[in-house]
Amino acid sequence: MTFSTDALAGRVAVITGGGGGIGFGIAKAFVAAGAKVVIASRNQERLDTAATELRAMGGDVTTVQADVRNYDDVEGIVKTTLDTYGALDVMIANAAGNFVVPAAEMSPNAWKTVIDIDLNGTFYCARAAHGALKDSKFGGRFIAISTTRALEGWPGCAHAGAAKAGIMSLIRTLTGEWGKDGIRCNTIAPGAIGDTEGVKRIYEDAGRKANELSSIPLGEFGKTVDIANAAVFLCSDAGAYVAGADLVVDGGRNRGRASPIVNTPAK
Ligand code: NAP
Repeated sequence: MTFSTDALAGRVAVITGGGGGIGFGIAKAFVAAGAKVVIASRNQERLDTAATELRAMGGDVTTVQADVRNYDDVEGIVKTTLDTYGALDVMIANAAGNFVVPAAEMSPNAWKTVIDIDLNGTFYCARAAHGALKDSKFGGRFIAISTTRALEGWPGCAHAGAAKAGIMSLIRTLTGEWGKDGIRCNTIAPGAIGDTEGVKRIYEDAGRKANELSSIPLGEFGKTVDIANAAVFLCSDAGAYVAGADLVVDGGRNRGRASPIVNTPAK
């Protein structure tokens, strides 16, 4: 199932971390739905490879090398976008870092690094894009990628869990402040997305795949396209009245976990 090829026609979308994983999945779906796309992250080679694939799909794509921990870099993403396309209608703060380490062994630098990328980077994206999003003729969209683990506690990932919970709070505040500017702010909370390096590392390589799958009512990991479809919906006219939502896309995992009875995979 895909959206129509004009679902995002005329929109200009920035996707941080758009060179790989979920961000690249979102970039592909946005190109397929008619958006012009700017992908930004640190590794130019990764961005170039992704851009080549997106252009082969017919996409109008620009890359910007940037570290979201650096506000000047994030302002540079916005400036390049406006210089290139004359508008910025969608900002998707997707870039993130994470690694497993128990809190008692976590160095202050490890904590600070993840907070810098995930939480500070998300605020920088919102702050730098605000003026352009306010000017969007479609009604600006700011989307941050959260996780279902943000509010339930995340043993082994205290830094990422706290950052994502902070992002959820930030989005709620921005919803209240920026609604008058026509800007719809939302989070998308993925569950475990099977075609990403993170899930391969954390569950498959660690021998925890079967255990994790058993906690998902729909019986399978998500796919990057599932998150991408949620993003297309929120950024299209169909999502125009959605603001301040946390769109959970997790196969029911955060509900299924609460019920020891329900554990029947979908047919
Ligand atoms: P990923 O494969 O690790 O990709 C992360 C992206 O962020 C990369 O493209 C990376 O590109 C970029 N990035 C990292 N640090 C950066 C920085 N300082 N500045 C700019 N870009 C930076 O992650 P993913 O699995 O696709 O996850 C995408 C989002 O979904 C994240 O917000 C993650 O927390 C969330 N999420 C994922 C899952 C999952 O199952 N995978 C579940 C829940 C939530 P460079 O290396 O080129 O900078």
